[in-house]
Amino acid sequence: MSSTELNLILLGPPGAGKGTQAERLREDFPLAYVATGDMLREARREGSELGGKAQEFMARGDLVPDEIVIGIVLERLSADDARDGFLLDGFPRTVPQADALAEEMGKLGRRITAVLLVEVPDEEIVKRISGRRVSKAGRTYHVEYDPPKRAGRCDVDGTQLVQREDDSPEVVQARLKKYHEATSPLIDYYEVLGLLRRFDGSRSPTEVHDHIRATIATLRLEDQL
Ligand code: ADP
Ligand code: ADP
Repeated sequence: MSSTELNLILLGPPGAGKGTQAERLREDFPLAYVATGDMLREARREGSELGGKAQEFMARGDLVPDEIVIGIVLERLSADDARDGFLLDGFPRTVPQADALAEEMGKLGRRITAVLLVEVPDEEIVKRISGRRVSKAGRTYHVEYDPPKRAGRCDVDGTQLVQREDDSPEVVQARLKKYHEATSPLIDYYEVLGLLRRFDGSRSPTEVHDHIRATIATLRLEDQL
């Protein structure tokens, strides 16, 4: 791996601030951004067969089946712009997904640089998700913690902000349950591999971002030694 290649994974419960941090990290580093939730929502908007299949799982807060998600991610990682580094957001979410990613990285002769775990307690998650508003282009706000300049409108493109249909209180509980059952085993999985870095996601977005950036800078230095 070249010392400049960064292959990062953002891990954490729904609403932890992964997307918020990804937006900032993409300004710091030229990384191909691969967010499975965004890709699945895009497929749904386009009315593709994939989008149709994913819809029912997403609406009830279940995970979309591994074979569907693994297929779209592996294809995306072989695209030109992902060759020099990527930022995965929302993938892997299960052990079979992590295994498939490891196998693909092995084939490509690449490796994961670090897994950035953003930790936030469940009570805070519910507050964050209930106040989350998103633009059509995927920009994220919070009615209280990160309000747009003009209520209900995106600062960047002025389009109307909406609440995601799976951000309702009942679906959030289902998603959190899934996280604890299916996704949190990945914490140990990556810890054993020495790849896990933990961040206190209950701090402000700027503090979390500063910590992540400092960690990445250290990793890069270590890589060059
Ligand atoms: P994820 O991608 O992990 O689901 P988001 O980045 O969409 O999470 O954040 C969930 C909600 O919480 C959004 O409304 C966002 O504006 C808000 N948020 C993100 N990070 C923080 C933070 N550090 N403190 C307070 N609110 C935050
Ligand atoms: P959040 O960060 O708020 O949990 P995402 O946008 O990452 O939301 O994901 C939204 C939904 O898309 C998930 O609840 C799940 O149904 C589906 N999804 C996203 N990524 C995956 C994945 N890696 N495996 C299975 N389902 C996924």
